[in-house]
Amino acid sequence: SYRCRSAFKLLEMDDKRSILRPGLCVLDCGTAPGAWAQVAVQRVNAAGSDRDAPVGFVLGVDLLHVFPLEGAVFLPHSDITDPDTQNKIQEVLPKGKVDVILNDMAPNATGIRDIDHQRLIGLCLSVADLARHVLVPGGTMLCKLWDGSESHRLQKRLMQDFAEVRTLKPQASRMDSSEKYYLAKSYRLQR
Ligand code: SAM
Repeated sequence: SYRCRSAFKLLEMDDKRSILRPGLCVLDCGTAPGAWAQVAVQRVNAAGSDRDAPVGFVLGVDLLHVFPLEGAVFLPHSDITDPDTQNKIQEVLPKGKVDVILNDMAPNATGIRDIDHQRLIGLCLSVADLARHVLVPGGTMLCKLWDGSESHRLQKRLMQDFAEVRTLKPQASRMDSSEKYYLAKSYRLQR
């Protein structure tokens, strides 16, 4: 069983858009309580459950504590926007790089829609900056946002950095009207 129903959103998006496969290395931003990490571990075969398939790697980062999960490495009590965290991430990654960045982070909601929207866009943009250091050319980024006036800024940024950007709205998040995801594929080499 999954730690959180958010797992079904990732399962649905991955079934439709093939984001994960055995052998890939994944960075999961905002990983607590760990449901997306559970899905990622299964789909990239990070615990080596499928002996015939390549073994992947999953690194999860969160401000909060995360209970251990077989096949995943966690950096708890870590702010993704902190340069120290970015250094630690690179140290922990087997090759210093990842194939996929998952970003399901959410700031503490104020309830004021515009402010929450802007804060989340800010977090997404800092993950786009982090990608410069850790994402392989050709890599993928999946990014949660709450739709609003600044969404186009993030979309524009992703369209500069990736060859293909699409908007996903999984069934499982239909109850949350402003929540959507940008799936950005084929990361262009950044310099
Ligand atoms: N995908 C997760 C799962 O399936 O279990 C759920 C993620 S939850 C919606 C959002 C998480 O983002 C929270 O646990 C929160 O602590 C984390 N978060 C928010 N801001 C963060 C930051 N600056 N750095 C790291 N994590 C952050």
